[in-house]
Amino acid sequence: MDVFENHEKTQRVMEALKGKHEKRLDIGKHVSDYAGRCLRKAYFDITNPEPVDDALILHFLRGKALHDMLALGEPKVLECDGILGHTDDSFFGSDAEWKTTNYSSGNMNWLREDKWSGLPGSYLAQIMCYMHMIGTTTFTLGLMHMQGDYKNRLPVIKIYDLVATKEELNLHWAFILDRKDRLEYAVDEGIPPSVATRWFKSECDNCPYFTRCRSELLDEGT
Ligand code: SF4
Repeated sequence: MDVFENHEKTQRVMEALKGKHEKRLDIGKHVSDYAGRCLRKAYFDITNPEPVDDALILHFLRGKALHDMLALGEPKVLECDGILGHTDDSFFGSDAEWKTTNYSSGNMNWLREDKWSGLPGSYLAQIMCYMHMIGTTTFTLGLMHMQGDYKNRLPVIKIYDLVATKEELNLHWAFILDRKDRLEYAVDEGIPPSVATRWFKSECDNCPYFTRCRSELLDEGT
């Protein structure tokens, strides 16, 4: 048998995947627009998005495929103060969330910028929103490290029980509503939010809007 790589069909697949991704962006305002993500990036996504490139599509494809394998059934849709959220229907009930990460379970140094120790602050910020929206103080996080501990590169799954006080959740929600106000004001006025609204510095790595932010980031000294 002869085997030929078909570039035209490959391109058709990539275009179809891009179409799916663009529909996802149409959903509108979501917890992930405010928690664990740069407000300036959300502003550009809303007002003047960069075309979706192949690298981003493949990145989302990998995470989405794994997520769909881990989560059960349809996500639970939440709504509070005009913000939408989706929690996973999981082995542990619907007050749960699965996340997948490239990062090693053996090297947590990448979390150093987060104020919550031990787990990615961007994940926890989203989950605290879900907890507030549901009205629960307990939640389950399933984390799949795609590269395991980098020794044998086998994926590793870790499950965490999260417990927060109502006061913590209320304070966090007030912070999220403030970010929502700031993003809405920025969109209304046509003024991008500051680069300081990013959640962590490495968010700028591979961000499609890096060239639009370069001078502000230089002014900020980063
Ligand atoms: S480059 Fe950085 S500051 Fe600019 S939009 Fe992206 S994440 Fe935000």
